[in-house]
Amino acid sequence: MEAEMTPLESGARFCFRCSPGVSCFNECCRDLSQYLTPYDILRLKNGLGLTSGEFLEQYTVRYVGPETGLPVIALKPNSSRELECPFVRPEGCTVYADRPSSCRMYPLARAVSRSRETGVLTEHFALLKEPHCQGFNEDAAISIDAWIDQQGLAEYNAMNDRLMTLISLKNRLLPGPLEPHQADMWYLALYDLDSFRQAPLEQDLLQGISVKAETLEKAKTDEVELLKLGLEWVRFKLFGQAA
Ligand code: SF4
Ligand code: SF4
Repeated sequence: MEAEMTPLESGARFCFRCSPGVSCFNECCRDLSQYLTPYDILRLKNGLGLTSGEFLEQYTVRYVGPETGLPVIALKPNSSRELECPFVRPEGCTVYADRPSSCRMYPLARAVSRSRETGVLTEHFALLKEPHCQGFNEDAAISIDAWIDQQGLAEYNAMNDRLMTLISLKNRLLPGPLEPHQADMWYLALYDLDSFRQAPLEQDLLQGISVKAETLEKAKTDEVELLKLGLEWVRFKLFGQAA
């Protein structure tokens, strides 16, 4: 049986509950194809007490988007155990508090469109039913908003939307594959945050980009601010645009 995708109206409710009691517990953490966003990496590496470099080296694989040349980061699955996620154990997810956005979002799928006139983002949701998942047989109705809230998704969505804006800009202004040095900048500023903190902040790589002193100060101690600065830095370096 194939997975089914059903669009949901805003405000819709759906029946779903995942818990250690379901017969399929942990099945979705096998046969992994788990891509990570910059904010996923920020949360995971801090939750594990690692630097971004250590986390990327130990737990991820870097691919190159064939048409875009963009770096794509995925969790490195355990090849000897059904391509399991490195963080799954019989008792469940060992990084639950910092699990990636896609693990939080399932069984919803979310897409965002931006109005050309106003720049306002509109969210679109669909329900993704995978045949092995027994969570749909549970008698528990929940609204989309309550799911977003329950799964702590607001901050993930806000940061992931910033990434999507940058990718849209890249596709519009630089169609075709990035040059390797451009891809390296993207990787440094968005995925390898601890190295980014050292490089532009200590080696004056922010020359030419107008950043308030107070933003720079914040970015030294607040990694969400550092990631926002990284997104702005890439935007400026690749497209010559300030936000
Ligand atoms: S397959 Fe569905 S119900 Fe089973 S553990 Fe995964 S999300 Fe939960
Ligand atoms: S991060 Fe956690 S929830 Fe996500 S696939 Fe791995 S073990 Fe499963």
